[in-house]
Amino acid sequence: MANLSITRRCERDCSFCFAAEERRREPLDMSAETFEGALDFLEHSGVPDARLLGGEPTSHPAFTSLADRALERGFALTVMTGGLVPPAALEYLASLPSGRVTVFLNAAVPGVDSDSLVAAQERVCDALRDRIEPGVTLVSADIDPSFLLEGIERHGLRRSVRIGVAHPIAGGANVSVPTGELRAVGASIEAFVTRAEVRGVSVGFDCGITPCMFSEEFTAMHPDVIESVGLRCGPIVDVLPEGDTIACYALASLARLRLDGCMTRGELIAAFAEALGDGLPGIFEECVECAHRAAGRCTGGCRARRTNGGA
Ligand code: SF4
Ligand code: SF4
Repeated sequence: MANLSITRRCERDCSFCFAAEERRREPLDMSAETFEGALDFLEHSGVPDARLLGGEPTSHPAFTSLADRALERGFALTVMTGGLVPPAALEYLASLPSGRVTVFLNAAVPGVDSDSLVAAQERVCDALRDRIEPGVTLVSADIDPSFLLEGIERHGLRRSVRIGVAHPIAGGANVSVPTGELRAVGASIEAFVTRAEVRGVSVGFDCGITPCMFSEEFTAMHPDVIESVGLRCGPIVDVLPEGDTIACYALASLARLRLDGCMTRGELIAAFAEALGDGLPGIFEECVECAHRAAGRCTGGCRARRTNGGA
């Protein structure tokens, strides 16, 4: 997995955005030439899907031609959107068979986000239906993701959702869940997973969610979740509009490497591991003696959180 960040443009401007600092830089948009080089990079790294993100990737002025080019070259197409999709891009995505594109929609939270954003996302869901896998970034334990289940039924979206937690940018100032609140967020996720299972909806997790956020009872019933979530912090490799690469947006201020035509994703990951070094303590004091960490099931939480001293 690697992400191609094709633009820094975004009108949604989420308070929790990982890319908040990066979006202030130039250039705004990835050129067609850099995009072609990024596809070469995916190809010789054996990565089968072109995952377009931003900013808001659909706001790239040449979004449709870039997406077409990825499809022409045989990549599966994934688009990560905040839901403010320009009309031409929406029409284009709606014209693709649902098997050729996956649209990850970071859903607005009714009653928290603006009514206009919620309404814009309703229109996108109506147009794209089963091309969409909805998800949400939780910024507090008070948010109940169950509205995603209602959206799936209302619009005929895919029966799978992604749950993310807002983490800090290393050295940055975005809104994130305080470390002391993570376990309360875990309890809210547990309740949601039970509701989703009843409705036949599968739940996937974004990076930085740790095994210790869940109760012993949940852990016993969902060993697959516990085996995987704690390891979802490692260099993903995001290619930026100018062709630089970062391990992930939250760590952008710590290491950048130029995309060199010959390097594979595996080589870049090794270079990031070396550049970032190791030896950071985990996010909780108890990480030191944690059985999950000793068993290789957890890296000690989000690295950006660890860099900020468990902010
Ligand atoms: S440091 Fe790790 S957990 Fe945190 S945002 Fe980056 S990949 Fe995700
Ligand atoms: S290593 Fe730390 S963050 Fe990971 S499960 Fe253990 S206590 Fe939680």
